[in-house]
Amino acid sequence: MRAMVKANEMKTITGQKVDFSKIRDQFPVLASTVRGKPLAYLDNAATTQKPWAVIDKMRDFDSREYATVRRGAYRFAEQATHEFEEVRAKVALFLKASSPEEIVFTSGATMGVNLVAGSWGRKFIGEGDEIILSHLEHHANILPWQMLAQEKGAVIKVIPVNDAGELDMEEYGRLLSSRTKLVAVNHVANSIGTINPVQTICQMAKAAGAVTLVDGAQAAPHMKIDVREIGCDFYVLSAHKMYGPSGLGVLYGRKEALERTPPFLTGGDMIERVTFEKSTFAKPPHRFEAGTPPVTQVIGLGAAIDFLSSVGMDHIEQQEKKLLDYATELVSRIETVNIIGAARDKAAIISFTLADAHPHDVATILDSEGVAVRAGHHCAQPTMDRFCVPATTRASFSFYNTFEEVERLAEGIKQATDLFRG
Ligand code: PMP
Repeated sequence: MRAMVKANEMKTITGQKVDFSKIRDQFPVLASTVRGKPLAYLDNAATTQKPWAVIDKMRDFDSREYATVRRGAYRFAEQATHEFEEVRAKVALFLKASSPEEIVFTSGATMGVNLVAGSWGRKFIGEGDEIILSHLEHHANILPWQMLAQEKGAVIKVIPVNDAGELDMEEYGRLLSSRTKLVAVNHVANSIGTINPVQTICQMAKAAGAVTLVDGAQAAPHMKIDVREIGCDFYVLSAHKMYGPSGLGVLYGRKEALERTPPFLTGGDMIERVTFEKSTFAKPPHRFEAGTPPVTQVIGLGAAIDFLSSVGMDHIEQQEKKLLDYATELVSRIETVNIIGAARDKAAIISFTLADAHPHDVATILDSEGVAVRAGHHCAQPTMDRFCVPATTRASFSFYNTFEEVERLAEGIKQATDLFRG
C-alpha cells in the first residue's frame, strides 16, 4: 500500500537532513490517544497544534518577564516592548514586507478583513463602486464586504470557479473595470484547497486601478509568502493556523495603503493627542492597535515563526505535497468517494463527500478511529452551493502528519462506506 511513500526525511540545501518524525515529537498534543487509539490530527486548516518551542516561550515570558507594552518606563515594560516590536520585525521578514511599520497585529484574519473593510472601505468605497470577490471565499472575506456594499450602495461581483475548483481568470478579466475599487481573494481556499494565482490577480487588479486584499490565513503556514512579489495592498493571516496562539492575527498593509487608511477601533495607544474638541492619531501600525495588545500571544507568534523558519518553508511545502499526493491516491481509489476540488495547484486539503453518508456521520466514524477531521460547510457556503453539496468532510494536513495517518484516514473512510452500504 505504501509503494509511493517516501521516507519521512528530506535534505536541506546545505545537505542537512530534515527528519519529520523528530519534528513531530516536538508537538506534545500529537502523542495523545482518543478512545485508546493514537490521535491522527487532520484538522489543520481549522487550527494547528503548537510545538514546545511556542508553549515554552509563552510560559517563560508569562512567568519571568510579563508586562504590558508601550506604557511603562520600568525595565520589564521596556523589555516586553522590545521583544514585542522584535516580533513585528520578524513577521515583516517572514512576509517579505518592506518594513515592520507595515505589520499590524490584529485578533485574527477575520479582524484584519473587518479592519480594512470598516476603515479603508468606508472611506474609499462609494455608491456604484464594485468589489470583486471569488466564489471560493471564507465567510470572513465575504461578509465584511457585503455589509459595506449594503451600507454604501456598492456592488459585489464574483469570480466564478470551474469544476476543478479553479478560478475562471478570463471571466475575472471581464469583471474588472474602472468601477472596480477592490479585489479581495484568498490565497488558499480553506474549503477545497485551491491555491489561487494571487500574483496575477493582483497585477490585473492594479492595472485596473483597484486595491487588493489577499486572505492568506491558509497560505502563510504552508508556503513561502512574499507580499511584494504578490503585489497586494493588504494581506491577512491568523497565528493559530501557523502553530502559534489563538486570538492573534496579522494585517500586512503596504505603507501607502496603511497611511491612507483611517483608524478602525479607537482608544488607548493609537493616538497622538486627545482633547474633547479634536483628536489626532498615531501613524501606522500603532494607529490600528487600539487598547492593550495580546502581548504573550505576539511573543508566541515570534517563536512559531522561528520554528517554521528552522524547518524551512520549502521543506514544509514539499512534505505536505507528498502527503497530499498519497492521500489523494488512497482516497480517490475508494469508489464511493467524490473528492471536491482537483485544482492543479492545491494545498494539502482533501474535501469529499461519500455516497449515502452525511459528512458529519463520516467524521464521527473517523473520530471513533482516532482520526480528527472536520465536517460542515467550512464557513464557505457559496463554495458548497457551487458544488451542489450542503457540506463536505475535510482532511487537512500539516508537515507533522505521517503517511500512516493518511492510511488510517483511507481505512476509516472505507469503514464508513461499508457501514452505510450495509
Ligand atoms: N480565511 C480563511 C481562508 C480561513 O480558513 C479562516 C479560518 N478558517 C479565516 C479566514 C478566518 O480566520 P480566523 O477565524 O482565525 O479569524
